[in-house]
Amino acid sequence: MFVKPSQFIILKQTLCPMTNTPPDLSIILPFHNEGDLIVPLMKRLAPVLDELKLTAEILCIDDGSTDDTYTHLLAAQQKDGRLRTIRFARNFGKEAALTCGLHKARGRAAIMMDSDLQHPPETLPQLVAAWQGGARMVYAIRTNRDTDGRLRILLSKAFYSLFHKIAEIELPEGAGDFRLLDRAVIDAINTMPERTRFMKGLMTWVGFETASVPFHVDPRLGGQSNWNFARLFRFAFDGISSFSTLPLRIWTWFGSFISLMALAYGLFLALRTVIYGVDVPGYASLMTGLLFLGGMQLLSLGIVGEYLARVYTEVKGRPLYLIAREDAPSTTQENSQ
Ligand code: UDP
Ligand code: MG
Repeated sequence: MFVKPSQFIILKQTLCPMTNTPPDLSIILPFHNEGDLIVPLMKRLAPVLDELKLTAEILCIDDGSTDDTYTHLLAAQQKDGRLRTIRFARNFGKEAALTCGLHKARGRAAIMMDSDLQHPPETLPQLVAAWQGGARMVYAIRTNRDTDGRLRILLSKAFYSLFHKIAEIELPEGAGDFRLLDRAVIDAINTMPERTRFMKGLMTWVGFETASVPFHVDPRLGGQSNWNFARLFRFAFDGISSFSTLPLRIWTWFGSFISLMALAYGLFLALRTVIYGVDVPGYASLMTGLLFLGGMQLLSLGIVGEYLARVYTEVKGRPLYLIAREDAPSTTQENSQ
């Protein structure tokens, strides 16, 4: 079924004209202004899928690209009947695109991978082998970080070490979104209604038997990374706030400690005044204390605000993404090969 490009509608149900039998694998690929990568990507992905001898659907999600990405995706769909394309009404972010992929996936397992070929399709047989060996979630662990800048590596290390200390779950080191999820895991994640979606965390939170396979991160094939430091920082705080309330609670301890210290200092000052009389100097200590406490109060208020903003987002309960267009191949075609 085709939807006219001019129509801007939200389609809720999967339009799948292929077969009613669910495929073995759903490959989830988010795209943002990188439609020209679909041809080289399919050149490498298609033979790998053919080799696996499993039926597959390839879900290409155009996350509100501002260029002709969707046209490229439609053209690729004409060449390979396994492709299904979805276009968001605007850019909702990678986490929303992955969430949509998991909602739409019909496979017995799904594999999420980046479309810029940083996640080599040649790793798929290993992921599938581990799944067929009994693992419900198989994550690909990166063995190199040379594609990232030094500052990003440093900040990423700091994030993981902080997350490790304060969060209620343990994120496997080096594991990103490149992973295979069994149907049981997909269904579990799809029951989670939260709006702030830190997928790496959600996927770890559900548990199940896991396995890992190593992979080498290749340089981006083309286009530009969609991340900047403001976005990364927000993403990091989304992760921490989704899985820890320590940044909120720490102020209770800090406040109690400061109050006790203030009480002791107040007693000391009172005693000293009684014994030695009034002492006028003290401007420096007064200002230091005032500024320090003022800073701490603003910081704690800011952190409360960050949580409140996320609670507000949850309460509003807006959809995580809106689909403007969804196309499945028009001809009936076998899924695999
Ligand atoms: N992506 C997306 N929406 C966005 C930003 C990124 O769907 O708003 C997708 C992008 O198309 C790519 C993947 O997320 O497939 C990884 O993005 P990117 O390469 O920019 O991230 P990096 O590899 O630098 O972490
Ligand atoms: Mg990338």
